[in-house]
Amino acid sequence: MRDSLQRPLRDLRLSVTDRCNFRCTYCMPKEVFGRGYDFLPKDDILTFEELTRVAQVFVSLGVEKVRVTGGEPLMRRDIEQLIAQLAGIAGLRDLTLTTNGSILAQKAQALRDAGLRRITVSLDSLNDATFRAMNDMDFPVARVLEGIEAARAAGFSPIKINMVVKRGVNESDVSAMARRFAGPEFVLRFIEYMDVGNSNGWRMTDVVPATEILERIGETLTPLEPNYAGETALRFRTSEGGEVGVIASVTRPFCHDCTRARVTAEGRLFTCLFAQNGHDLRSLLRSSTDDAELAAAVSRVWRAREDRYSEIRSLATDKVKAEMSLLGG
Ligand code: SAM
Ligand code: SF4
Ligand code: SF4
Repeated sequence: MRDSLQRPLRDLRLSVTDRCNFRCTYCMPKEVFGRGYDFLPKDDILTFEELTRVAQVFVSLGVEKVRVTGGEPLMRRDIEQLIAQLAGIAGLRDLTLTTNGSILAQKAQALRDAGLRRITVSLDSLNDATFRAMNDMDFPVARVLEGIEAARAAGFSPIKINMVVKRGVNESDVSAMARRFAGPEFVLRFIEYMDVGNSNGWRMTDVVPATEILERIGETLTPLEPNYAGETALRFRTSEGGEVGVIASVTRPFCHDCTRARVTAEGRLFTCLFAQNGHDLRSLLRSSTDDAELAAAVSRVWRAREDRYSEIRSLATDKVKAEMSLLGG
């Protein structure tokens, strides 16, 4: 099944909640996601059975990899039960989860026991003051490091670490991160700050380009071949045997290889991180629609897909888009 630009559907990002215990300034700034913010009511959020059915339908259409995300996915109660259900889907090759790590120390073993084999932890700085300011909840970096350690003890290896780099905020922490996570037990990804959503006040001058991030790493890196077509990161081997990569979605867009669909916690299907509207799957899930009809509905959306926002970014920045905390990155 290919979209209008001949891209297959291979990855699904499944958001399990729109809530988060952080207020990262680039994702859920407090001015927008403050006390009065209307998060989704419980009944609007897909149940574990519905989320599993969605994943199954996507796998039947060619999806090989499912990433569980949010909001903060570990905030969803009994998330390990969902992981166990997803891990049981025949034909799903790769199941992973992205977390801010804040409650990973309590959850790592249960996630592992439930069948999760890969995990990504977001960490924007090793400098405690910078990290507390970026998550804007005064959350200490030491607790995230404990979460990473617990994931290691539970058997996750390598552990992927995501760092969003924002000009004037944390670019001076790039080299410390590269040193701390240089070993083979980690895969480090630096991410260019993106203009997702409408609330983070993005400006091009806030972006630290991938070329500069690579210079800041400041060690000799050996380029690696892409693992597969559509891989988003430019990857390098470190001298200590680890891997670092840069996701240059702003300065080197990769829409031509983008094989990713996103489903929000309330069951809306987005075919691009920057799409303005989602397609409602929940009403189908909650009607008498069977799996074949559901698959046909998804397939119609995918075949019509023509998104390539990052490649035409300069023409489209004034449009109203969905938020990163809904779409899950
Ligand atoms: N709460 C989890 C976390 O932070 O890992 C999962 C959801 S979060 C939306 C997924 C990823 O998106 C995180 O690694 C986060 O750093 C990244 N992200 C959020 N806003 C971003 C932005 N404006 N530009 C680039 N990456 C962003
Ligand atoms: Fe929460 Fe993740 Fe967004 Fe930070 S990036 S506010 S942790 S959803
Ligand atoms: Fe994919 Fe849209 Fe990002 Fe392009 S802008 S890589 S189409 S999600």
